[in-house]
Amino acid sequence: MFLTIAGNFKMNGALAGVQPYVETLKAAEIKAHLIICPPYPLLPAFAAALPKSIALGAQDCHARPSGAHTGDVSATLLKEIGASHVILGHSERRSDHGETNADVAAKVAAALAAGLIPIVCVGESESQRDAGEAEDAVKTQLRHSLPENFAGLIAYEPIWAIGTGRTPTAAEITAMHATIRAALAAQFPLTGPTTPILYGGSVKPENAAAILALPEVGGALAGGASLKAADFLAIAASAIAASAIAASAPTV
Ligand code: PEP
Repeated sequence: MFLTIAGNFKMNGALAGVQPYVETLKAAEIKAHLIICPPYPLLPAFAAALPKSIALGAQDCHARPSGAHTGDVSATLLKEIGASHVILGHSERRSDHGETNADVAAKVAAALAAGLIPIVCVGESESQRDAGEAEDAVKTQLRHSLPENFAGLIAYEPIWAIGTGRTPTAAEITAMHATIRAALAAQFPLTGPTTPILYGGSVKPENAAAILALPEVGGALAGGASLKAADFLAIAASAIAASAIAASAPTV
């Protein structure tokens, strides 16, 4: 099974950069599942330029299909312009826009109703980790940010690792991904055991291989490192290597 590598451009990128970025991706033989999540105005250009093998995602959507919500964008419109995925509950949305778990759950439900695949972000703050509350914080987010019919991906993104160059240790990532897997399996007995759990937070070409080889890490959500196509491809190459190691591991 291919790992998923998603790129969150955040509020970066420009129209002039779309074609060169896509050409670089197309020139490489990629055996990972790639998702590019640019800002809204770049979605149509990416939709036109990307090959079918590379998915397109948005970074947010509104919980309602239409209406008087100035500045917001509906999941149905995102779907119509070619997005297949949407990042929801990113910590920057939670902090910049005060999004609660209930808001995130409503957006996830709207995304699913529109036929989009949600990538739902969860992750603890530094103070929660220091206080030994990281796992409880993430379990609470999972319990309240996912509607009953959830189907999609989860991204574990410790807030203190986003854009800082710091990452949890391998043991910390392994422990948290095991906690998330157990919580998902309990909450969603049918889909929870196989829901992909991405890791996000300062993933770079230099550390991707080690992170992607960890148990229950189903891929990566990269922010800063996704802005350069070459770096994004280098992370994807690590995913290919990690998949190959997993495929050749003996089963018991
Ligand atoms: C993110 O914001 O989703 C992210 C993972 O950012 P970065 O890779 O820059 O830490």
